Amino acid sequence: MFPNIPFDRVNWFTSSFLVITFFVTLIGVPIFLLNFGLHWILTLLFLFYCVATGMSITLGYHRLFAHKAFKASRSVKLFTLIFGAAAFEDSALDWASDHRQHHKHVDDEHDDPYSITKGFFWAHIGWIFFKLYPRELNNVGDLKKDPLVMWQHRNHHLIGIVVGQVIPTIIGALLGGWVGAIGAFLVIGVARVVVVQHCTFFINSLCHTIGRRPYDSKTSARDSWIMALLTYGEGYHNYHHSFQHDYRNGVKPWQWDPTKWAIWTLEKLGLASQLRRVPEEKIVLAELREMHRRAEAQLQRRNRFSIHCPTREEAYTKLADLLENLEEGYHDLEKAVSNRVRVSKSAILRYRAQAAATLDQLTHIQGLQLNPA
Ligand SMILES: [Zn+2]
Ligand SMILES: [Zn+2]
Repeated sequence: MFPNIPFDRVNWFTSSFLVITFFVTLIGVPIFLLNFGLHWILTLLFLFYCVATGMSITLGYHRLFAHKAFKASRSVKLFTLIFGAAAFEDSALDWASDHRQHHKHVDDEHDDPYSITKGFFWAHIGWIFFKLYPRELNNVGDLKKDPLVMWQHRNHHLIGIVVGQVIPTIIGALLGGWVGAIGAFLVIGVARVVVVQHCTFFINSLCHTIGRRPYDSKTSARDSWIMALLTYGEGYHNYHHSFQHDYRNGVKPWQWDPTKWAIWTLEKLGLASQLRRVPEEKIVLAELREMHRRAEAQLQRRNRFSIHCPTREEAYTKLADLLENLEEGYHDLEKAVSNRVRVSKSAILRYRAQAAATLDQLTHIQGLQLNPA
C-alpha cells in the first residue's frame, strides 16, 4: 500500500507515543476541559512546566550540552537534565549527538539526521519515526566524561515519567481528587509534552523554511522572530548556523531571545561562566559577505539577459556602485578580523549601513522584476 515507507525500520514505541499523545491533546484534553475545567494552580503549573522543560532543552540540551556555549554550575546542569528528561526528547547525550551531526552536515540528505532536503514533515517529526540512522555517539566524547550527563542518559525515561507525569498527577489529586489528578495528567503530563515537543521540532522544520538569511544563504537555516517567540529565542537560526558556539541566537540586543537573557542572568548570579560571544567584526563581516554574494549574483543575472528598460538599467548601475563600496569595506574588515584588530563602533555602523543599502537595492530590483514597467 505504501511501498516507499520502510516499515521494518519504524520505531514503533516512539511513533506510538508521539501519535497517541498528539491525538489525546487534540481531542481528549478539550473534552475534559469543557466538562471539568482546571484548577488555577494547575494552570500555573502547566505554564511553569512549559517554561522549565522548554528552556531545559534550549538552554541546557542545546546551548550548554550540544554547543558548549557557556559553562554552568552543577545545579543548573542538574535542573536542565531533570526537566529536559521531562520534555521527552531523548537523553541530553543522544540529543546533542544528533544535533552536532545536524550542524556538521546541514542539508545533506544522508548525514543530516533531520535534513530539510527530505521535506518539511521529515525534518519536523518524520525522522523520529524511523531508526534509519543508528546512533554511534562518536561525536559526544566530552559529554560522556560528565557523570551527571551519563546518569541522565541511563535514567531519562524514569526521570521523565516521575517529573513529567507522576508529580503533577499527585499535585492534581491533592487539589481536586480524581478529577484533579486526571486533569493534571492530561494537561501537564500529556498536552504540555506535545506543545514543548512541537515547538522544538519547529526549529528543525520551520526555521529551515521561513525567514531571512542575513548571514549565509548557502544554508537552509533562517532567522524568524515569529519562530523565536515560540522557541525561547531559537528562531534566529541563520545566525545560529553561522556561529553555533555563541550563547546568543538573537544576537541583536532587541531580538527576542529569553534563553540568552536567562544565561546572562545565571552568569550574574554566579551560576554560569565563560559565555562565548562572536566578536562584532566577524558578525558584520558575515553580513557583508552575504550581501556581496547576493549583489554579485544579481549583477551576473543582468549580464545574462539584455534589458531594455531605463529604470532597471539605473537600478543595476546603482547596485554596481554599492557593490564596489561593499567590496572595499569587506576587504578592510576581512583584514582586520584576520589580524584580530578591533574595529571602531563608527566603522561597524558604516559597514552595517552599506549592507542595509545593498539589501534595499536588491529588494528594489526584485520588485522591478515582479512588476515590470
Ligand atoms: Zn538547524
Ligand atoms: Zn544548534
